[in-house]
Amino acid sequence: MQTHLADWIRATPEGIEADDILRKCVHCGFCLATCPTYNLLGDELDSPRGRIYLMKEMLEGAPVTGRTQLHLDRCLTCRACETTCPSGVEYGRLVDIGRAVVQTKVARTPWDRFRRWALKSVLPSESLFTVLYAMGRVMRPILPRRLAAKVLVKRDAGAWPTTRHARRVLLLTGCVQPAIAPSIDAAAARVLDRLGISLVPVSGSGCCGAVVMHLDYQHEALAYAKANIDAWWPQVEAGAEAIVVTASGCGTMVKEYGHLLQHDPDYAAKAARISRLARDISEVIGAERSRLASAYAGKDNRRVAFHSPCSLQHGLKLQGVVEPLLRDAGFTLTPVPNAHLCCGSAGTYSILQADLARQLRDRKVDALESGSPAVIATANIGCLAHMDPVATVPVRHWIELIDSRLSAGKG
Ligand code: SF4
Ligand code: SF4
Repeated sequence: MQTHLADWIRATPEGIEADDILRKCVHCGFCLATCPTYNLLGDELDSPRGRIYLMKEMLEGAPVTGRTQLHLDRCLTCRACETTCPSGVEYGRLVDIGRAVVQTKVARTPWDRFRRWALKSVLPSESLFTVLYAMGRVMRPILPRRLAAKVLVKRDAGAWPTTRHARRVLLLTGCVQPAIAPSIDAAAARVLDRLGISLVPVSGSGCCGAVVMHLDYQHEALAYAKANIDAWWPQVEAGAEAIVVTASGCGTMVKEYGHLLQHDPDYAAKAARISRLARDISEVIGAERSRLASAYAGKDNRRVAFHSPCSLQHGLKLQGVVEPLLRDAGFTLTPVPNAHLCCGSAGTYSILQADLARQLRDRKVDALESGSPAVIATANIGCLAHMDPVATVPVRHWIELIDSRLSAGKG
């Protein structure tokens, strides 16, 4: 499409990038069919094409109103539209730029400002979130039903193997996952240990910054990115072969550090290297697939429905990587209709857009359970925590299922 960006943004890095993306869109509308919010609401302005149009108007200098903010807020940033788009429109980058601009032009209500501030203050702080989550578990019986449902039952993480291999990979510990499901990283450490790779948590690393970024605190998000880079850097220079992420949403963010910090003279080169080293756990395990396949003993007849998070299939473009690993482990995968659609978790979307998120979650869980699985597997803590309270079967990270099969083999 033709564009004429306003003077105040045209020559900025964001303006140049947005212009380049906007020009790729040919209005074909293919993306509408795979957009979860268009699917639910049927409003063109809640579709990728409609949102692109709103952002184009705004960047061309048209007055911006709460209407633009509302439709951008309702976007899940699931990036299903990117996967569908035949013209290669990088919608995810465009909406990040668009949201940052809206933020400067439309004031939020005091309540909206407060809850965004509260979320960005609590969620990225692992220590604060862990304390609050532990209190939530204790008080679960007396919490209101909706709040109680957000607090998952504690599960034992099991032992973490000692660091004993020459092959070492670093772990992004993240922010909320260690409190909600410490079993995920521990399972990843055990599976990697079995493959002769030590998974090393690094003190000083923490939240990847994605949750803060999507709450429109973009500068703070970059501060989290820099803190992680600083924490990992000595070990990277000492030969760590990868940075492993067990939450696909966080992995998407770490792989974007290089792009997000490309204009920072102090961090551009380091961030680019970190992004090249970042691996979703499925990439690391997938590279060792043949060795792992021979490690299983006995059988497991459980039926598994795999929910591929948007961040895995649309963000990281890792479609079809986990499923063969689960089949190798002896699980039977059940069919999942509309597997491309978001479950509604999407960072803090399940809190800020609770009604839409609930509808998407209920549809997703119905789809996942339609094949009568014994367990639902996923690859992102947000999806797991969002679906587990309403699913009739357990929801687990897929690496936990692989770990359970290997542990069974030891027996
Ligand atoms: S990111 Fe997802 S919700 Fe947003 S416009 Fe694209 S498909 Fe729709
Ligand atoms: S599919 Fe791509 S080119 Fe077509 S309207 Fe959507 S974003 Fe634009």
